[in-house]
Amino acid sequence: MINNVPGKDPTLIVGGGPAGVSCAWKLATFSIPCILIDKASFPRDKVCGGALSERAAEILITSGILSNNELEDLTLKEHRTLSLWNRDELLRTYISQDAPVRIISRRKFDSVLLDKAASAGAFIVTGDTVVSVDSSSVTTSSGKNYPCSNLVGADGCNSLVRRFIAGKRSKGTGMGLEYLIPLTDLNEIPEGLQIHFGYIPYGYIWVFPDSEKVNIGAGAVGSPASPSNITEALNGFLEARGISCDKYQLQGAPIPSRELDRNLGKGNIYLAGDAAGLVDHVSGEGIGHAVQSGFLVADCILSGGNRGTVLNKKDCCISIVRQSMFYRHLLFSPITHGTAIMGLRDNEEFARGYWNIISGKESYNEMFRRLLT
Ligand SMILES: Cc1cc2nc3c(=O)[nH]c(=O)nc-3n(C[C@H](O)[C@H](O)[C@H](O)COP(=O)(O)OP(=O)(O)OC[C@H]3O[C@@H](n4cnc5c(N)ncnc54)[C@H](O)[C@@H]3O)c2cc1C
Repeated sequence: MINNVPGKDPTLIVGGGPAGVSCAWKLATFSIPCILIDKASFPRDKVCGGALSERAAEILITSGILSNNELEDLTLKEHRTLSLWNRDELLRTYISQDAPVRIISRRKFDSVLLDKAASAGAFIVTGDTVVSVDSSSVTTSSGKNYPCSNLVGADGCNSLVRRFIAGKRSKGTGMGLEYLIPLTDLNEIPEGLQIHFGYIPYGYIWVFPDSEKVNIGAGAVGSPASPSNITEALNGFLEARGISCDKYQLQGAPIPSRELDRNLGKGNIYLAGDAAGLVDHVSGEGIGHAVQSGFLVADCILSGGNRGTVLNKKDCCISIVRQSMFYRHLLFSPITHGTAIMGLRDNEEFARGYWNIISGKESYNEMFRRLLT
């Protein structure tokens, strides 16, 4: 039930990634006037491994923003096999009997979701950058001024809206870097997903193949490693496998690692996705959390700004990211890292637990409770 009567000004959403479009789609579905502004012209690329967890797929489908068939069409490859490595040692290959982790193209995925929001009735403006915001309006680089009743910052890791609320630039960000390599350039095509520990503190190297290419990247959240350390580790990894980095373009993007905004903003200003710091600190997953937080922000607006009731859900993205900020130390801290690596190697249940985390099948608390019993 919609409790509030929105003011005559629309809700203004900055950013048309998964967080912004989910919010716009839901508001428009409930006939709440909204305008979404993105600086990019779509389709646009986004540096991302493109791994979509089971939890993310479920949120997309149960919300109704995508049908099963539409998600199938967007899926480049399904994976149920995960190999875990510690530098050159293969720790374990885990094969899941459950739903797959999907690889999607962010160019296509984001564009399809943006069309969904437009079809639902959201007014979409692309190719115009929001350059200044306050609680009642935003101004864009084309000189337009949009008055708004609610403002939603879904503008990614370097969020302008978050900076407006915090009054300063955020302190720390993580970093993700990747190469896209055609399968035809490889001597051996990787089977399933690979995660390689031991190269970057508080991070890992990933190998995510789809039907045409493999995304090989490295990332870390809240790590002492600098972008140049991560690049060096990634290039060394590729060269050791006979892949010449010079042939491919290195792409990078920041990953939020600052304090999570558990209230998703304040007053009539909301934050969703990377702008709210909603990235898993162990896996780096952010797409599913962006989508879910976009819906949560829409729910807050629909409930007349009642954050308390909407955001206090135990298993929602806010709770999962909070748990990841704690449990990452068990996996990555120099004190416990060796034990965690041994666990992944020697105990099938640990590997299943890791799969359940990246697929979103279990929360961290559920997984640890299960492992302890
Ligand atoms: C290298 C790397 C690999 C990753 N791999 C994965 C993965 O495999 N799986 C996973 O789940 N997550 C992954 N992530 C995280 C994931 O990409 C993000 O968490 C997710 O994109 C967040 O969605 P969002 O909508 O919050 O922000 P974004 O997708 O960043 O969208 C923000 C939008 O805001 C727009 N914008 C920004 N500023 C302005 C402005 N001033 N005016 C107008 N528009 C603006 C941008 O153009 C953009 O379209 C990865 C991240 C990185 C960096």
